[in-house]
Amino acid sequence: MTHVFVGPHPDDVALSCGGLIASLRELGQNVAILTVFSGNGATDGLTPYQREALGFGSKALWPVTEAFNRANIPNDVGIRDEATPPWAASADRLDATQADADAAAKRFWQRSSWYRRASIHNESLAGQPVIDQLPTQGAVMTIELTEAEAAADAMATRRLEEERYAYFAEASLILLDLPDAVFRGYEGDAELLGSPREDDPAPVALLRREIARLEPQKVYFPLGVGGHVDHQLVRNVGLAMIGDARRWVMPGPEWAGIVSFYEDFPYAWWNDFRAIDELGDGLRELPYDVSIVPEYADIGDQLERKINGLTIYASQLPRLFGGPREMADAVRGYGRKIGALGGLTGHAERYWSSLSL
Ligand SMILES: [Zn+2]
Repeated sequence: MTHVFVGPHPDDVALSCGGLIASLRELGQNVAILTVFSGNGATDGLTPYQREALGFGSKALWPVTEAFNRANIPNDVGIRDEATPPWAASADRLDATQADADAAAKRFWQRSSWYRRASIHNESLAGQPVIDQLPTQGAVMTIELTEAEAAADAMATRRLEEERYAYFAEASLILLDLPDAVFRGYEGDAELLGSPREDDPAPVALLRREIARLEPQKVYFPLGVGGHVDHQLVRNVGLAMIGDARRWVMPGPEWAGIVSFYEDFPYAWWNDFRAIDELGDGLRELPYDVSIVPEYADIGDQLERKINGLTIYASQLPRLFGGPREMADAVRGYGRKIGALGGLTGHAERYWSSLSL
């Protein structure tokens, strides 16, 4: 059983749901991140069918397998010294382990006039290659991405950040690479934050298929707080899926009770979002016999891990917050505010779960 988090863009799931994801992983639950608009205009002309036929459409990266290429992931990704998480070794214990490793290496090489130092860190010693930099592991198209990143392809940079986050969060990642709204002809804030165009439908069929094959226990969509076109479209897919079982279509799973909506951070923080009715007619498509109820995820123990994970999105932090410190302040501030709304003493994330009446 899997929890599927659907993000309009690389970073949305980490920003909005990073605390819940960390606590689900602590409980041993599987987490999959499905990122929808992670593509640029280059493949704009292809239909979803063509994309899938060409093998671009549903690229899945499973970090728990050998096939996951770790070449571009630093060893200590996202871990900052000032907030060492409980599972990370402290510097003095690492030093003690290194001393042990050196002593063992010395014993092993004792009959030689030289010995080869052992390194427990992912750093080159005496010119030895670092294993993660040898092209021996996996080969999942990541080379293409790193080359595109080198060519200053902004979306490639964002996809790489999403991969690094998925690795950090121990989640599977599926990048659908549909073109971002800016590559679909939306220009300026008025259009990006306005209503989706008539000729720009929500990718319902594609997402329904991708989500159904993961057989999720829960699926989390954005609420669309802040009104970004891509966020609205992805939310509308969630609403359409809830409506599926009630339409004269092929019988399918009942998604009410499985579909949940998350509050788009930091937009919900900037807009001081408090209650669901502030969304206006955003949930207009909700069937009459389905209600939406708030659920509070206590993320007190996961807060610092969430913040660490967000430092991976280096290309986005200046634009969104100004920098990592301001990001951490905003995450803590919003978590505290939501916790208070839920009557908790600590930090929380809030989810709006669908419920069949
Ligand atoms: Zn977004």
